[in-house]
Amino acid sequence: MVTITVDMDKCQSYGQCCFEAADVFALNDDGQLEYVAEADESRRADIEGAADVCPMQAITVE
Ligand code: SF4
Repeated sequence: MVTITVDMDKCQSYGQCCFEAADVFALNDDGQLEYVAEADESRRADIEGAADVCPMQAITVE
Protein backbone atom coordinates (compact mmCIF):
# COMPACT_ATOMS: atom_id res chain seq x y z
CA MET A 1 0.00 0.00 0.00
CA VAL A 2 1.05 3.57 -0.71
CA THR A 3 0.28 6.02 2.09
CA ILE A 4 -0.31 9.62 1.04
CA THR A 5 -0.23 12.66 3.27
CA VAL A 6 -0.75 16.23 2.10
CA ASP A 7 0.25 19.10 4.35
CA MET A 8 -2.86 21.23 3.90
CA ASP A 9 -1.07 24.21 5.46
CA LYS A 10 1.32 24.12 2.49
CA CYS A 11 -1.14 23.13 -0.25
CA GLN A 12 -2.23 26.09 -2.34
CA SER A 13 -4.72 24.08 -4.45
CA TYR A 14 -2.70 24.52 -7.62
CA GLY A 15 -3.93 21.14 -8.79
CA GLN A 16 -0.81 19.87 -10.53
CA CYS A 17 -1.02 16.67 -8.52
CA CYS A 18 -4.49 16.03 -9.97
CA PHE A 19 -3.05 15.79 -13.48
CA GLU A 20 -0.50 13.20 -12.39
CA ALA A 21 -2.88 10.93 -10.47
CA ALA A 22 -6.49 11.94 -10.98
CA ASP A 23 -7.77 8.89 -9.12
CA VAL A 24 -5.95 10.00 -5.96
CA PHE A 25 -6.02 13.81 -6.03
CA ALA A 26 -8.93 16.04 -7.02
CA LEU A 27 -10.06 19.59 -6.42
CA ASN A 28 -13.59 19.80 -5.07
CA ASP A 29 -16.24 22.32 -6.09
CA ASP A 30 -14.76 24.81 -3.63
CA GLY A 31 -11.32 24.44 -5.19
CA GLN A 32 -9.95 22.60 -2.17
CA LEU A 33 -7.79 19.53 -2.59
CA GLU A 34 -9.31 16.19 -1.65
CA TYR A 35 -7.25 13.01 -1.78
CA VAL A 36 -7.28 9.39 -0.77
CA ALA A 37 -4.89 8.49 2.02
CA GLU A 38 -4.08 4.99 0.75
CA ALA A 39 -3.66 3.65 -2.75
CA ASP A 40 -2.59 0.41 -4.36
CA GLU A 41 1.13 -0.15 -4.83
CA SER A 42 0.57 -0.15 -8.60
CA ARG A 43 -0.20 3.59 -8.37
CA ARG A 44 3.09 4.48 -6.68
CA ALA A 45 4.88 5.88 -9.76
CA ASP A 46 2.12 8.36 -10.58
CA ILE A 47 1.71 9.36 -6.94
CA GLU A 48 5.43 9.98 -6.57
CA GLY A 49 5.20 11.96 -9.81
CA ALA A 50 2.49 14.07 -8.22
CA ALA A 51 4.69 14.70 -5.20
CA ASP A 52 7.52 15.74 -7.53
CA VAL A 53 5.46 18.28 -9.44
CA CYS A 54 3.80 19.84 -6.40
CA PRO A 55 5.16 23.40 -6.31
CA MET A 56 4.69 23.55 -2.55
CA GLN A 57 6.28 20.13 -1.88
CA ALA A 58 3.21 19.43 0.22
CA ILE A 59 2.83 15.73 -0.62
CA THR A 60 4.50 12.97 1.37
CA VAL A 61 4.47 9.41 -0.01
CA GLU A 62 5.32 6.39 2.15
S1 SF4 B 1 0.07 20.14 -6.45
FE1 SF4 B 1 0.55 20.48 -4.28
S2 SF4 B 1 -0.20 22.53 -3.85
FE2 SF4 B 1 -1.19 21.82 -5.72
S3 SF4 B 1 -3.13 20.91 -5.11
FE3 SF4 B 1 -1.60 19.29 -5.21
S4 SF4 B 1 -0.80 19.14 -3.11
FE4 SF4 B 1 -1.82 21.09 -3.29
